[in-house]
Amino acid sequence: MNSQINELDLLKTLDRDHVWHHLTPGAAARKGLPMFVRGEGLRLWDSEGREYLDASAGGVWVTNVGYGRTEIADAVREQLAQLNFFAGSMGNAPAAAFAEKLLDKMPGMSRVYYSNSGSEANEKAFKMVRQIAHKHHGGRKSKILYRERDYHGTTLAALSATGQAERRAQFGPFVPGFVEVPHCCEYRTQYPESNDYGIRAADAIEEVILREGPETVGAIILEPITAGGGIITPPEGYWPRVREICDRYDILLIMDEVVCGVGRTGKWFGYQHYPVQPDIVTMAKGLASGYAAISCTVTTERVFDLLQEEAGDTLGYFRDISTFGGCLAGPAAALANMKILEEEGLVENSQRMGEYLLAGLHALKEKHPVIGDVRGKGLFAGLELVQDRMTKTPVDESVAIAIAGACKQMGVLIGRTNRSFEGFNNILNFSPALTATAEQIDQILTTLDKAISQVCG
Ligand code: PMP
Repeated sequence: MNSQINELDLLKTLDRDHVWHHLTPGAAARKGLPMFVRGEGLRLWDSEGREYLDASAGGVWVTNVGYGRTEIADAVREQLAQLNFFAGSMGNAPAAAFAEKLLDKMPGMSRVYYSNSGSEANEKAFKMVRQIAHKHHGGRKSKILYRERDYHGTTLAALSATGQAERRAQFGPFVPGFVEVPHCCEYRTQYPESNDYGIRAADAIEEVILREGPETVGAIILEPITAGGGIITPPEGYWPRVREICDRYDILLIMDEVVCGVGRTGKWFGYQHYPVQPDIVTMAKGLASGYAAISCTVTTERVFDLLQEEAGDTLGYFRDISTFGGCLAGPAAALANMKILEEEGLVENSQRMGEYLLAGLHALKEKHPVIGDVRGKGLFAGLELVQDRMTKTPVDESVAIAIAGACKQMGVLIGRTNRSFEGFNNILNFSPALTATAEQIDQILTTLDKAISQVCG
């Protein structure tokens, strides 16, 4: 026992002195951070022996099937023992088997391109668009539109396609050819007088296309439901109009399902809530629930065909590689992850428990005036906190920090938008693993209720 404690203390010291933690200010890191040591289902235990209920799916919407899934660990171990890696023009069993399973959930989609992270999946999509522009449009049609408040990743092109000023701050200059379109958050509508906001918000995209010149625009990337920018469910009528505009100007629609994909919103993919068909879909996080690093860029056969070689065009095919897109741990884990989702009916559970969660959050809104808006689909929900419901003035970031902190003190981990949108660090989010039970949702809601009372009176 003693030697175990000493080893843990040593590891904590090593962590404090050597690990550069994501999104953690140096002052906090230098004091030393507790470590998580074990997880099971929605539960996590830290090095101090404290137990938590994780309503954030690993902090960043990842652990869709929950912690401690030995069946995924076993599938990965078996695959790695048999064959761990080969990248390039040879096939392998888990990549083929998983592609078939995935495409079965995505009518109209046809090809799966493997890589390692959400950012990378989006970069692949951007490179496809750029190469299509060169092959078919003399280098024009290379601009990619992105939406205010959406996030698409940490690499420089993905960040250049991100509509969150605070995330971009201090990282310029950005990659050229990315152009912003207005957000579609009904609660913060730009057209308060209109009763067809969905159409107006989509038409705002067309205005940008016409301003830039349709012959210069190759694609638009959008989140089906904006995640880090504040759990923004798009307004009625938005998606069909977006598709119509894309078709009118021959613009590819890239759907970033990195967060929403693989059951999070109560359907296999977020876009499937709406009458819209994308050309390219990117996904990562819940794809293997954090048991391996894997992402996919999924395309229609048309996009695949646009990137194939023609006579005399030796640069014709998609000239891209991802070294660890060739690691077989990813598709092996994704295959086992999908088996669990199917066998345990977790996408349906996400839908059912999501409704229960949303109803609970709406009830809390009745009680706490600080809750200005409740949004979400499936086990993917958010609260927008305001000083005053009439003016909708956002609360100071410190209020959201204090509420999330109080929840943590009471053993529940919730998410918080972090510097997503200028002045709007006022959104709390809830995304437990898709195995969540009514009792666990109750624990999240009761804890949140107490935390809001503590912080806001
Ligand atoms: N797209 C969206 C919508 C995301 O939320 C994220 C990450 N939070 C990414 C892309 C980037 O994924 P990754 O961090 O795996 O590169």
